[in-house]
Amino acid sequence: MMNFFKNLSIQSKIAIIAIPTVAVAIGIGVAVYNKTNYKDIQVVSAAVKNVELKEEVFPEVKEEVITVAVDNSIQESLVEKEEPKEIEFEGIKAKTPKSKVAAPKSKDDPENNKKKGGDAVSQSQAESMFENTGVKSRGIDVSSWQGNINWAQVKASGVDFAIIRAGFRGYGNGSMNEDAYFKQNVANATANGIKVGIYFYSAAVNETEALEEAMWVVEKIVTYRITYPVVYDCEEIGVPGHRTAGVSGAQAASNANTFLSYIKSRGYEPMLYANKSDIGKMGRGNFSCKFWLAHYTTGGQPTDYTGSHQMWQYTSSGSVPGVPGRVDMNVAYFSYGSVAAPMHTHDFSEVVRNSRVEPTCYKEGKETLKCSCGETQDKVLPKTEHKLSSWEVRTEATEEQEGLEFRKCTNSGCNYEETRKIDKLEPEVIDPKDNNNTSEDTNTSKDTDTNTSEDTNTNTNTDTNSSIENDKETDNNVTEP
Ligand SMILES: [Zn+2]
Ligand SMILES: [Zn+2]
Repeated sequence: MMNFFKNLSIQSKIAIIAIPTVAVAIGIGVAVYNKTNYKDIQVVSAAVKNVELKEEVFPEVKEEVITVAVDNSIQESLVEKEEPKEIEFEGIKAKTPKSKVAAPKSKDDPENNKKKGGDAVSQSQAESMFENTGVKSRGIDVSSWQGNINWAQVKASGVDFAIIRAGFRGYGNGSMNEDAYFKQNVANATANGIKVGIYFYSAAVNETEALEEAMWVVEKIVTYRITYPVVYDCEEIGVPGHRTAGVSGAQAASNANTFLSYIKSRGYEPMLYANKSDIGKMGRGNFSCKFWLAHYTTGGQPTDYTGSHQMWQYTSSGSVPGVPGRVDMNVAYFSYGSVAAPMHTHDFSEVVRNSRVEPTCYKEGKETLKCSCGETQDKVLPKTEHKLSSWEVRTEATEEQEGLEFRKCTNSGCNYEETRKIDKLEPEVIDPKDNNNTSEDTNTSKDTDTNTSEDTNTNTNTDTNSSIENDKETDNNVTEP
């Protein structure tokens, strides 16, 4: 990989800096305007054309199709238990769809045959590529295809953000799938200080399905710290063989806008992901949200896409410490100063009716708690205390041998019993010269000799008290040795 700026003319250098600057300006303008009117915005891409890009500067994209072997031996997990919620949004009715956690490399995963391309950019090369870009942040986007990621290493390499796949709609049958590594990736990336965004790989054929997907995504991410945008990813619009083969560009744009509009209504920043070909079919002007362009170039060349874009996926052949294999690399022409709070924190304050199983002294109980959002969680109720009888002698102590006593739990069904030893009996010692000392010696012998002097004092002060104390201590030695 060449340095991004080395081979370019002065004019091109200005263009490279100017495009993102203009793009960010448009983005901000749109974001501000969006607060009052979301639907009517048209993002004008013409503005960027003013910087007079020269076509010949930008070479053709080199793309190759990587076919990944499918492992059908992995059993896909069972369908989750979820109560479907029905809503109406912008005149469209939809229920949160059922889903399952897809096995990695599932045959239904639309990223099975995803186009790969771009330069084999390392993390340090990525640093120099965008060093003069102004406001920016650098990130990766990942899914179960990357496998087990060491997020501490990713963070140490300088990655700012990760757009993590929450799930996808099945390539063939349209089933909803959670990415096998979604929860692990979000939790560990966040824990290591990497700011997280989310993408969903859609295969919606109409607005209802797109709304279903958006509802599903929000439900999955609502308790996480999602700082970067929530992204609608639809690819291969109208391509034969795909579920969306019959979907027109206009329909795809409408589906995408339904998804993005719902995401925005739930307080997240929406963003559209598309490659040059698909954004051409959908029309950049039909979208008012941030746009993430996928365009793999070689030789460190910038994209020749002239429309406004706020994030650029410039290669799928990146390498980042902590990520096995190749990974998509991105630059965002924006950044966030702080990590977002979760949109929702479960309260789990309500006990689901008839769910409580009372604990006993020998078995844990259980109850199901419900959050105001509908999410449920099982709670283990700890065992109760045993109800113990008083101590009974099982074996008497003698001068030669310790005895044994026991007590039992009297709750029905419980077999708990505890035992303890009884000390050997002391051989009787009589000192007729000093009666006080004799009684003391009997008491202290089972404890320690140090007590003797103190007790001797008490005893010599008042005879009446000492006799009472002696009685008490004698009792104590029996019950609590
Ligand atoms: Zn909740
Ligand atoms: Zn018991």
